[in-house]
Amino acid sequence: MTDITDNIIKQRKRILSPSLSLSYNEPLHIIRGRRQYLYDADGNEFLDATNNIQHVGHCHPKVIEAALRQLKKLNTNTRYLDKTILDYASLLIQKMPNKLNKVFFTNSGSESNDLALRLARNYLQSNETIVLDGAYHGHLISLIEVSPYKYNGPGGIKPPKNVHALPIPDPFRGKYRGKDSGEKYAEEMDIILKKIKTPPTFLSESIMGCGGQLIPPEGFMKKAYDLIKTNDGLCIADEVQIGFGRMGDAFWGFESQSVVPDIVSLGKSIGNGHPLSVVITTKEIADRFNNGMEYFNSYGGNPVSCATGKAVLEIIEEEELQKNAREVGLRLLKMLQELERKHEQIGDVRGKGLFLGVEIMEGSDYSQPSKEIATTIVNKMKDSGILVSTDGPDHNVIKIKPPMIFNFQNACQLAETLDSILLKI
Ligand code: PMP
Repeated sequence: MTDITDNIIKQRKRILSPSLSLSYNEPLHIIRGRRQYLYDADGNEFLDATNNIQHVGHCHPKVIEAALRQLKKLNTNTRYLDKTILDYASLLIQKMPNKLNKVFFTNSGSESNDLALRLARNYLQSNETIVLDGAYHGHLISLIEVSPYKYNGPGGIKPPKNVHALPIPDPFRGKYRGKDSGEKYAEEMDIILKKIKTPPTFLSESIMGCGGQLIPPEGFMKKAYDLIKTNDGLCIADEVQIGFGRMGDAFWGFESQSVVPDIVSLGKSIGNGHPLSVVITTKEIADRFNNGMEYFNSYGGNPVSCATGKAVLEIIEEEELQKNAREVGLRLLKMLQELERKHEQIGDVRGKGLFLGVEIMEGSDYSQPSKEIATTIVNKMKDSGILVSTDGPDHNVIKIKPPMIFNFQNACQLAETLDSILLKI
């Protein structure tokens, strides 16, 4: 560790809140980013396989140019007429199912989910909320309350009575196992629905991120959505981690599970790192929200954010990034599945497109989740120049969610490095 790095760590400790964490045993001092690479203060290059926020690549020139051009011209808010917001909102709507055609702008995934909950609760006049165990939806009070990942974790407190968690739909290690467990998990939804008296909001990710890069078993999402609809409830799709083509086979995570939500919240990758986020809903839900109380957000929908978001959408199309996610992701998934056959520490490999997870296990029969080995692997990967991270309720899932320009060569490098590290563990 250099003196500069050491000083920055000391200064952080002195000035910043101690609840902020740093990645890796020896924290990185990254000073520059370009495409799918990050560079530290000593000039070392790291292949970034974990930053899904920088969706089209770090410091994409077209994103910078779009933001800068608008920043030089004007930055105001939604109380003035402006074409930028309309151009961008129109492009977003085109990507959505027809019924989702009313757009709100916010500044973070948390803010989007908070607004999504407000919209749903206002429409239903009910605050009954159903979530998936292990899920994370944001850092606001309203979202910690609906994020089992947080309220069941260190420092968490019991959620309010209106929040109900379904067992995590994990076909590998969950309450019900195997490919055919979708129906069983959906039955758990029925149990909750019988207990509540007013219409529910179901807030979920179609593919879970912090829950451990988890694809629910076949049919679960569809059945869960159907049950909510027959109980006059609403479904919110949290696309903060998985949207914008990352799934490869679909532009949105909910599409890849063949469901259509009533409200969608977008964040992270939407602005390639710029603090932009969006909620999209139906005319009926937006109309009922329009009850005389103004929706105003100082920054949400400002022209600079909209110009940035528009550039991101255009790049996804121009550079065919969804196709890249599908092709590179599939190849990487196959390589990781090969490693799963070779290394007993790998319990499960899963995911879609460029959103993959490798679950690390230990014990005589490799039936125990191993946060320790997963953390060791992630640190060794970093020492070998590749950045990945861990997540899941037991923090034993290595998550791979690189910028969408990740290529075949990057995928091979990642798989080969993981292989050689596992051989030595
Ligand atoms: N939803 C999901 C699924 C997330 O993963 C996150 C952040 N990790 C959020 C919401 C919150 O987003 P933000 O950090 O931008 O508030």
